[in-house]
Amino acid sequence: AIATRELQQMFSLTAEEVAKNRDRLCELDGVIGDGDHGLAMDAGWQAASKAVLQLDEVEVAPTFLFNTAAKAFLNAVGASSGPLYATAFMRAGTAVKDKHTLSDDDFLDAFRAMAQGIQDRGKAETGEKTMIDAWRPAADAAMEARRTGANISACLDAAVRAARDGCEATRDMVAAKGRSSRLGDRALGHIDPGAASAVIVIEAISAFLT
Ligand code: ADP
Ligand code: MG
Ligand code: MG
Repeated sequence: AIATRELQQMFSLTAEEVAKNRDRLCELDGVIGDGDHGLAMDAGWQAASKAVLQLDEVEVAPTFLFNTAAKAFLNAVGASSGPLYATAFMRAGTAVKDKHTLSDDDFLDAFRAMAQGIQDRGKAETGEKTMIDAWRPAADAAMEARRTGANISACLDAAVRAARDGCEATRDMVAAKGRSSRLGDRALGHIDPGAASAVIVIEAISAFLT
C-alpha cells in the first residue's frame, strides 16, 4: 500500500525532475508563450514538495497531504499552471478521502482525478494544444490498462507512453486555450510547454511507483 511517506517521496522526486527540466520548459514556453513555464513549474513543485515534507507522516492522511500540496502550489505560482495543478491535487485528495493508505486502485483513482481536475478547471479538450493533450490520454490509458487487469506499474507505463505521444501530437496543433491561442498558425511546429511538463511529471510518478 502507498502511505503518506511514499507520497512525500513522490513529491520530492517529481520536484527534482521538474527542476532539472526548468530551462528547457522555459525555452519551449519562450517559443509560443511568455517563457516562464519552467520557472512556474519549478516554483510550484518545490513549494509543494517542501510543504508536504514538513507534514508528520504518521499523523497525516493522503487527503491532507494533497490539500497541502494544492495550497502551496497555488501560492507559489502566478502563471496559469498554478490553479490547474492546485485543482489536480485537490481532486486527488478528494478521490482518496478517508483512506489512510492507498491501494493501487486508490492511487490510480487519484491519478485520474488529477487529469479530470485540470480539465474541469481549464475547460480544455484534447486537440487544443495544452497539458490536457498529455494528461487526458495518460489517465485514459492507465484506466484502460487497469480494466484489462494490468498491475500498477504496467498501468503507469501505459500512461507515460500515452502522455509522450499526446505531447508530440501538440506539435501539429493550433492552440485554442492559453496565451499561445493568440498565435494562430505560428504555434504550428512547436510542442506545448504544459504538455511537455506533464510528461515529466507523469514519468516521475511512474518511475516512483515502478
Ligand atoms: P502562463 O501562460 O500564464 O505563463 P504557464 O507558462 O505556467 O502559464 O503555463 C502554460 C501552459 O498552461 C500551456 O503550455 C498549456 O499547456 C497550459 N494551459 C494554459 N491554459 C490552459 C487551459 N485552459 N487548460 C489546460 N491547460 C492550459
Ligand atoms: Mg508561460
Ligand atoms: Mg506567465
